[in-house]
Order: sequence, then C-alpha cells, then structure tokens
Amino acid sequence: MPSLFKPICLALLALTLASAAEAGAISCPADSPLAVQALGSGGPIADDGRSSTAYLVWIDGASRILVDAGGGAFLRFGEAGARFDDLDFIGLSHFHTDHSADLPALLKSGFFSKRTRPLPIAGPSGGGPFPGLQNFLSAMLDRERGAYGYLSGYLDGSGGLAKLEQIEVPVTPDTPVALTAASNERFGVEALSVPHGPVPAVAFRLRLGEATLVFASDQNGSNPAFVDFARDADLLVMHMPIPQEADQAARNLHAPPETIGSIAQAAGAKTLLLSHFMARSLANLDENVGVVRSRYGGRVIVAEDLACVPVQ
Ligand SMILES: [Zn+2]
Repeated sequence: MPSLFKPICLALLALTLASAAEAGAISCPADSPLAVQALGSGGPIADDGRSSTAYLVWIDGASRILVDAGGGAFLRFGEAGARFDDLDFIGLSHFHTDHSADLPALLKSGFFSKRTRPLPIAGPSGGGPFPGLQNFLSAMLDRERGAYGYLSGYLDGSGGLAKLEQIEVPVTPDTPVALTAASNERFGVEALSVPHGPVPAVAFRLRLGEATLVFASDQNGSNPAFVDFARDADLLVMHMPIPQEADQAARNLHAPPETIGSIAQAAGAKTLLLSHFMARSLANLDENVGVVRSRYGGRVIVAEDLACVPVQ
C-alpha cells in the first residue's frame, strides 16, 4: 500500500498546486477597456477565506485604480497580476482595518518598483477615534514617529519613492466633492460622505468616458444624497455584511438587503455588485440576495475574491 499511496498523494498534491496556481491567475481580461475586479469580497472577520475589502479598476488592461486596501489586499493584488506602477489613484473609504490595513504592505511592495511619479490618494477627514487621511498616513510613514518611518519617502518623494498626493475629503457637508487632484485624462473622481455609524466614511464615483462606477463603502443607506450620487451607475458596488433581520445596532453601521435593493433601484443602477461578506452574512445568502432582488430589477452579481466584472 505505501508504495501506491505515495504516488497518489504526490499526484493529488500536484493537482492541488495546479488548481491554486489557476486560482491565482484569475485576472480581468487584458483586452477589456474597463473592468472592476473584487480583490477582497470579505469583511473584518477571518472566518470565510475571503480577503477584506479591496477593488481594482482595470482600464485597457492596466490596474489604474485601487479602492480600499483591507487585510488580504496585498496577496490578492499580486494574484490579480496588478502593477503598483500602473496605479493612478488610491481611494480609501474609511479607516476601519478591513478597508485600510494592507496599505503599508502594498506601499512596501511598490518600494521595489521603478515608479517615481506621484500617486494621488484620497480618504476622509477624521472624527472621534478615527484619524483623517493625513494623520493616518503620518502615523505610518512619518520619518520620526511613524510605525513604518523607513517608508517616509512616500510622504515627500525622497529616496526615489513615489510621493503620495494626499486628498483629504471633508465628511461634511453631505454633498459630492470633486477630487480634481485625482482626476486625469482617463477618469474623474468624486466623493460623498456616507453614514457609517460614528465612522467618517466616503463613497467614490468614477467617471470614465461614458461609464460611471460607484463604490458605496460601508454605509447604513440613510444619506438621501447617495441616490443621486449613484444615479445611472453602470456598476454600483454595495456592501451586504448584515442580513435583513439584523438588529438596530448593526443597521446603524450597515444597510440591510432591503435598503440596498431600494437604493440601487432608485438610482437606476444597471448592475449591482454585492460584496463585503462574512460567514454570518453568507449563511442565508440566497435569501438575502432575494430580498435585494425584490426591490431592484437590475442585474445582481455576488462578489467573490478576484471576480472580474467587465463594464465595457
Ligand atoms: Zn467599516
């Protein structure tokens, strides 16, 4: 038996490694003019094999925009075949760990690239225990006091590193802000403050030619201005970490499925990408997606890590 068992085990191992390699090779089609890839479709609990929140926007086969960088984004970024050199913009929706914790790891990865051109990065202003973008970055990157002061070149462009051009978005008033410093010939960026309990948070709207992409961030859905912000989106990314029967404490932070469906319908979004799952919200996923569909007549896609959604 042992003489037979060993080759079988080796064969199974080779098959597993081959499968893992294939999974790691999942990427958006290089010939797609515009696609969104869910690098991380999970939330803050490490119980479902998913990376925390991160999305890539691919333009003509290049990884141009990163929205959020939660734990796991570093690994998925590499698996997706994304290039730090190609990034034109990083948007951080808020400073919960599951949206921001892998940023320094990605910056360190970029340390080994040839990139020197500046990189615009946007995030909300601070409030309560949460820093604004500038304090968040200096807490990590300040040469004297930062936890990763050895990467301080990202603050000032020294040492051959790409300077992060910081755009701190005021979280009041609740009207869209055009981020002209992040906009270029390929796309325009706007941000809108969204209610996420006590956490300062912003949603992002990207305009790329005729196409509109909206990343809702974590939010409870109670800012009526968000419907206009998401108006006619070709792709609306919304987070569904709680089930319909969630209690009020959870609903202060997150929109239940019914609210998500109502917002997508009112906005006239063409495609809704549901994301930010955990074991607790995956348990009755079909039921909760059904609640969304009962309110929304457009196309619904349930995100998985590395899933690619071509928009054009
Ligand atoms: Zn959050």
